[in-house]
Amino acid sequence: MKLQKPFHANSQNRTQLSPINCICGDPYSWFDTEFFRNEDLYVATFDFFINWSNNSFQPIAWIKRLLYNEFSLDPQTIFKAIIKCDGIDYYHQMRLFCEKNNIELSYIIIPDIEESNWINLENKVILFNVMKYDKNHDDTAAVECLNVKELIERIHLYKVDCTTAYMGEKGLFYSTSSLESFLSKKQTAINYDKDAIYPGDVDVVIFNKDYKPLIIIEIKKHTKAYEAAPTINEDSIGLWCKKDRNKYESLDILQKHWNCEFYMLIYPTTTERVFKLEKVDNLTVTKSKILPLPCVHSQIELKLFHDQFNDFVNSKPVIANKTASGTKLYHTDLRCKYIPRDSKRITYFESISQAEDSGYNLCSTCRNS
Ligand SMILES: [Zn+2]
Repeated sequence: MKLQKPFHANSQNRTQLSPINCICGDPYSWFDTEFFRNEDLYVATFDFFINWSNNSFQPIAWIKRLLYNEFSLDPQTIFKAIIKCDGIDYYHQMRLFCEKNNIELSYIIIPDIEESNWINLENKVILFNVMKYDKNHDDTAAVECLNVKELIERIHLYKVDCTTAYMGEKGLFYSTSSLESFLSKKQTAINYDKDAIYPGDVDVVIFNKDYKPLIIIEIKKHTKAYEAAPTINEDSIGLWCKKDRNKYESLDILQKHWNCEFYMLIYPTTTERVFKLEKVDNLTVTKSKILPLPCVHSQIELKLFHDQFNDFVNSKPVIANKTASGTKLYHTDLRCKYIPRDSKRITYFESISQAEDSGYNLCSTCRNS
């Protein structure tokens, strides 16, 4: 059994990878460094479910891995394949993170077959339950084998009352497995008339040595200049929320469940050499910063990224805007009703003195609050 971490590729031709940025790599790796580990901060990523009947987090996590050769249902063979792919340290780190947070962790092992083959119910995915395996290495109940119909039922069971988003005839353009692309389309042959059902993922969870989640981060690629966002600076969670409401509501529910912080990281695969960080509360940006893009091969730049990320997390930003009459105001109360809802009309300063130096005055409502 040979497993591999999933990768983004064209759904119709998986040899064609999605655009990447060779300089900065995948931002997940910016957090998975000795600089964060020296502060006892660790990272995780997984797929998760929301119970949409009451908007709560379902304590179930899946780690996706692609399967390249022979299929086995023997628990110990599967375990060995996972360790070969992920390393024993990562496996235990994920197991402990989930255990301490009362989350049931399973690996979902997906054969890397042609998308059209999923219609054949002989083709199956494996669910490998980590906690069950841990209790008893011979436990065959730790391993389940599901065809797409059974998998869809399982996902519905976890998601409860989910309304799926219609992705269009073509489904996902890029996906991390042929299965997700298959599930993003209507499949009349198996009476599957919904789509976009596969659970969303959390790109980065930063947790401490007590396995407490502190920060979740959604990573987005800015792949081309478009009207609403010609540059990284204009790109923002607001634009993504419109496209994929379900995903961002899921992350908002996860943030509230853990009472942690939520950041958006937008990085380019264009020629821009900067990325953007946004702090998000109630799916609204409360501070934002443009920073130089680190080179993933440079320890000095990854250290600088770590320091800049820390500074951003700890900074108390000053929100400012120009009124319709051209008056320049800054706000000290984040709930002030005069803060524009449209994030494009907001300017962020790192301090009050910086705002004042730029000719902004304290809003009178904020002064009296
Ligand atoms: Zn104000």
